[in-house]
Amino acid sequence: MLKKNFHQAEPIPEEARAYIDALLESGDLFRYHASEDAPVTLLEKEFAAMMGSKYALAVASCSAALFLTLRGLELSHNAKVLIPAFTFAAVPSAVIHANCTPVLVEVNDNYRIDVEDFAAKFTDDIEAVLISHMRGHTSDMDAIKALCDEKDIPLIEDAAHSLGTTWNGQKIGTIGKVGCFSFQSYKLVNGGEGGILVTDDADMIAKCVIMSGAYESNWQKHGLDCNAFSKYQNELPLYNTRMSNLSAAVIRPQLKEVERRVDDGLRNHDSLANQLNSSPYFDVPEALAPEKRAPDSIQFNLIGFTNSQAQAFMAEAHTQGVPVSIFGLHTGNARAYWNWKFLGETPELPKTKAMLARACDVRLPAALTLEEVNTIGDVLLASVEQIKSGKAA
Ligand SMILES: *Cc1c(COP(=O)(O)O)cnc(C)c1O
Repeated sequence: MLKKNFHQAEPIPEEARAYIDALLESGDLFRYHASEDAPVTLLEKEFAAMMGSKYALAVASCSAALFLTLRGLELSHNAKVLIPAFTFAAVPSAVIHANCTPVLVEVNDNYRIDVEDFAAKFTDDIEAVLISHMRGHTSDMDAIKALCDEKDIPLIEDAAHSLGTTWNGQKIGTIGKVGCFSFQSYKLVNGGEGGILVTDDADMIAKCVIMSGAYESNWQKHGLDCNAFSKYQNELPLYNTRMSNLSAAVIRPQLKEVERRVDDGLRNHDSLANQLNSSPYFDVPEALAPEKRAPDSIQFNLIGFTNSQAQAFMAEAHTQGVPVSIFGLHTGNARAYWNWKFLGETPELPKTKAMLARACDVRLPAALTLEEVNTIGDVLLASVEQIKSGKAA
């Protein structure tokens, strides 16, 4: 029996205390209170530098970043936007929030976009492509980018869960026109809530800054080298989805931790993947060759299971202290596209559906030790033995 809280967060670095104390003292919680160098503005500068991007805008969530980005693209009403069918419900939600229509693309049993289906669904009425790197898995971005470029259609990255991941050495979130990240507590950097977008596009950043709630001339306080703002001032709605200085105070000191968390997360993931792949009943798909991952969870497929065996495996692992979720068998899972009932009718997606019915999800926070990870592996292997030998309770 493993006694571990898989959702337990790492402590916030000590440095945050001084930042927060200063904010409590001054009461300066609003990013536009100070004329310059507000914590949110500093976070944006530091994050942009870390990503090698020209501009960054911190907002209330990754969903807000995706919404602003889609609005910033100035697509037609109900514009069709390609998204993978394997993602979190917040992604199609951001698409409809922006008055667009998501078109779902098949995802293979390695959790990556089916490039053939992507090409087939990339018809002339598609106005944007939003690639959600679900659970930090990177699809074939070379093929996807090439097709977007060929058709001159904007590519947006939902990199909510991909901070620290690279593709051909390039940082995920910087391949598309805009990359959006999350600071929600279950992501690599824990701000409680929060999001940030990066881009090199001057018009895009000007539009997103204003729409995020930079009313009047508050865009000047972003201190950006960008002369597109005056074009858009008073021309765009203010959606007021800013970040508070308190959030920036807890996020900034964690940026220094990203590299270590990425290394530890990858070490934990790869060690567990090796252990699980020793069983004929598990398959942990490999990363694509150009991809270097930054995982804080592991996904693996059950091989040769009936639905009831898969359910029994989930229950047995739970009993032994490891919470396993099978995306498609867990009632009401927000990552199973048929539960996105707000979209109306969802299409037939046999590949994605089959994958979701056997894909297991286990959180693997970077703070776990290798020994703990090994115990998790033992529990999963023992649970599968119980089920397959018919000995489970
Ligand atoms: C967490 C997550 C989101 C949503 O992020 P929020 O900051 O909570 O809005 C979107 N996409 C993916 C892939 C995620 O993991």
